[in-house]
Amino acid sequence: DDVRQKYIKGKKLGEGTYAIVYLGHFREDPSSCVAIKKIKVNAEYKDGLTMDAIREVKYLQELSHQNVIALHDVFSSKDQNLNLVLEFLPGGDLEMLIKDNDIHYGASDIKAWMGMLARGVWFCHENFVLHRDIKPNNLLIAANGEVKLADFGLARYHPVVSAPELLYGARQYSGAVDVWSMGMVFAELLLRVPLLAGMSDLDQITKICEAFGTPTEDNWPGVTQLPNYVADKTVPLQGREFFLRQFPTAGPVGADLLMSMCALDPRKRRTALQVLQHSWWTTDPQPTKNEDLPRKS
Ligand code: ADP
Repeated sequence: DDVRQKYIKGKKLGEGTYAIVYLGHFREDPSSCVAIKKIKVNAEYKDGLTMDAIREVKYLQELSHQNVIALHDVFSSKDQNLNLVLEFLPGGDLEMLIKDNDIHYGASDIKAWMGMLARGVWFCHENFVLHRDIKPNNLLIAANGEVKLADFGLARYHPVVSAPELLYGARQYSGAVDVWSMGMVFAELLLRVPLLAGMSDLDQITKICEAFGTPTEDNWPGVTQLPNYVADKTVPLQGREFFLRQFPTAGPVGADLLMSMCALDPRKRRTALQVLQHSWWTTDPQPTKNEDLPRKS
């Protein structure tokens, strides 16, 4: 395989549930750094899937933006596993920062991180790519502090559902699923704990209803027709006061932005572009400069 020959694989950097990640470099440039991510493909899916998967991930190679991890190459290894050659991002991820109690961060830092996330998501949507699995653990940090969206197009190997329309089994969905997840990241950065951590899909939708209110035909036309819709006890939709009370550090303008990202009806949710057009970004405090952002210890 020509592509595989372009890289030298080095030491193991880490291992997740679905992949093993190695340090590597371009054969012709020993001073370069890449991350080679070997996706564990479930044996029963292996036959034929690798080629499909390669085709599916290939278009991500064209996606070039500051806040989207660069995918240099894709190849399948001898054992039929899918290997992604990715930009090397040594700064850890947002989840590490959120969970590290020795790290202190404030409203300006959150605004900087959310800005980078929102620009990355906007760029993907502009190019007709949905991420579908945005969470702090998938937001990697470069040496210069830049936050980058990672772990794309792999949702098919581990189906993820987070936005209410996905939990209700909607077969047609849009970029609104990513905006919902962006809202959840925003909330988690503010609270430093996941806002809604359900044990199962049903538990997750119950928690969403308890927190934000119950979807009804009134506030979300068509919701009762979705495949997995379950009638739950009706909690009225939460308004501005709830978000202000729950997220005081966001300030009133930030709470308003968060609320508009958490609209249950995907059609009422702000789009990524509308997120970027919100007045929160230009409201004080200003976002922290990358070089001043808190870093992993
Ligand atoms: P997880 O979901 O647990 O983060 P991954 O399989 O995505 O699992 O990654 C495993 C580990 O490999 C990460 O915790 C991180 O330390 C490292 N890693 C992943 N991607 C990169 C990258 N692009 N650059 C540097 N290190 C990476």
